[in-house]
Amino acid sequence: MGQTLTEKILDDHLVEGELETGEEIGIEIDQVLTQDTTGTMVWLQFEAMGLDEVQTEIAAQYCDHQTYQFDFKNTDDHRFLRSAAGTYGAHFSRPGNGICHNVHRENFAAPGKTLLGSDSHTPTPGGIGELAIGSGGIDVTVAMGGAPYYIEMPEIVSVRLEGELPEWATAKDVILELLRRLSVKGGVGKILEYTGPGVESLTAPERMTITNMGTELGATTSIFPTDEQTKDYLERVNRGEEYVELQPDDDAEYDDEIVVDLSDLEPLIAQPSMPDKVVPVSEVEGESVEQVIVGSCTNGGYEDILPVAKMLEGRETSMETETIVAPGSKQASEMLAREGWVAEMMAAGVNFSEATCGACIGIGHVPASDSVSLRTFNRNFEGRSGIEDDNVYLCSPEVAAAAALKGEIIDPRNLADELGDLEAPGVELPDEYDGSKTDLIAPDEAVDDELIKGPNIGDVPLKDQLGTDISGEALLKMEDNITTDHIIPATQDILMYRSNVPKLSEFTLSRVDDTFAQRALDADGGFLVAGENYGQGSSREHAALCPMYLGIEGVLAQSFARIHRANLFNFGIIPLTIDEETYESIDQGDEIEIVDDVYEAVTSGQEEFTVRVGDEEYTATLDASERERDILAAGGKLAWTKEQAEGGS
Ligand code: SF4
Repeated sequence: MGQTLTEKILDDHLVEGELETGEEIGIEIDQVLTQDTTGTMVWLQFEAMGLDEVQTEIAAQYCDHQTYQFDFKNTDDHRFLRSAAGTYGAHFSRPGNGICHNVHRENFAAPGKTLLGSDSHTPTPGGIGELAIGSGGIDVTVAMGGAPYYIEMPEIVSVRLEGELPEWATAKDVILELLRRLSVKGGVGKILEYTGPGVESLTAPERMTITNMGTELGATTSIFPTDEQTKDYLERVNRGEEYVELQPDDDAEYDDEIVVDLSDLEPLIAQPSMPDKVVPVSEVEGESVEQVIVGSCTNGGYEDILPVAKMLEGRETSMETETIVAPGSKQASEMLAREGWVAEMMAAGVNFSEATCGACIGIGHVPASDSVSLRTFNRNFEGRSGIEDDNVYLCSPEVAAAAALKGEIIDPRNLADELGDLEAPGVELPDEYDGSKTDLIAPDEAVDDELIKGPNIGDVPLKDQLGTDISGEALLKMEDNITTDHIIPATQDILMYRSNVPKLSEFTLSRVDDTFAQRALDADGGFLVAGENYGQGSSREHAALCPMYLGIEGVLAQSFARIHRANLFNFGIIPLTIDEETYESIDQGDEIEIVDDVYEAVTSGQEEFTVRVGDEEYTATLDASERERDILAAGGKLAWTKEQAEGGS
């Protein structure tokens, strides 16, 4: 039987296990990336492991999430990250140089390679045939030290594209259509491999918009085959020699197939406050829009902003609407500036912003209360914009530009009819991506050769070996779809403590219950209870690290999001799955006891645990590989890795 493209790349990198769905496999990692909110812990853990030098072909440290240097804390973190990159041999992208995924795809992403990144949108370069997976920071630390990355072999689903996109429909509409059909849980446990005749009509940047947002489907990753479009893109970023042709075998078998006819697509929009609440733009026309933002790692490339510039050229944005353009990389800003497009957009009323994540995580450009904000981003979880009563819609750059001109949501096809002279801008790539590289410091140009830690940078907290008796209060009971943004909000005032775990922990789950952190500390141990898809969203390992610091020993949930589940193991918190009846039976404040000898049960491979809640007993399941059980028993991945190193294995 032939192989899928995913299987071919995995086979090339396989160091342990077999490519059977559900089996744990270990793969060699060629490239790693990390960003500033997850990076400080990655390097502190790298230091704690006593490792000398990065072992992967490429390691890149970006500063994109918190680039505004409000006070010394962010600036100290940036200096620490620069010093860590210099000390251990990683590339360092300075604050303001752009969003990790944009800068990485422009400079390092390559077909056939594996990439592990401590950011959930790491799958972006799947659009040029790289097998790229988002993970917790500690997984990146360990991979950077040369160890394999372990993952349960996902199902491989073929997303067969047919036809070609009509005018005004874009790559964003392809992924919004998939979200409409499959929901934010539709990709869990799956790798989406794009196939079919429609693939060749999409440029590499369009493909990367689609793979970027595969994360919103919950997919492990998404990948396209490589072809003339891939080669063309690599030549334009001056890395044509890195092209390799990668296609699935003709007789490859997939676990499932989804067919999308591109020619049926129309402009779509995700309504507040979930990326899968997708409807045709025409269904929500007329809603007045106070803010439009074009940018982010999904639609912040040169080729995403150019259509906006073309649509706004010679026109004026609505007086009622504030329009912001924040490119994904400084290179894109520089190129658009050289070509005069920045001036055109400014003349039309655009506020041109720094190349940063910024507004995507509520840092700057927070919308007015109870107003509509239209964004080209990938996420619109409630409160992520920096204000709880937000109404954030997600759409393509073309739909965003149409709203900026009209002051309300409008299908760009209808705006074109109204204006008479508005043409569909289409997709245009520059001849060459030729921005300067002054903000990307290679290891051989390193500024520092030792770590520089400011006062806001603390030590890595450690947990003891797993205990035999685990009991405590159900400190918080939560609904379905709790995100890592709920667990540790990523807003500026909070995330500036990312390197100071005791302080950051004070904000744990504060968006759900602002008494939680103090109650957890006072209780000295306890449980979290949640519904389906607990921990969806970003890869933020602080969402497990801070609960660990507060003494949380277990999470009982109906289901877990992939990266967060891995992070719970990595920080020694036992993730137990419960059914709906058990979930309904537990009230916040109930005393919970795991009846089994927990250490013994975990290490012996026991799957079913007895959980006593008051006088009743229920069954909870630990679905974990042998390695995950060992990590849990050791008290987390850092302790486990040290044990392994000391044991000489
Ligand atoms: Fe940055 Fe937003 Fe992309 Fe995350 S999703 S990397 S915060 S732009």
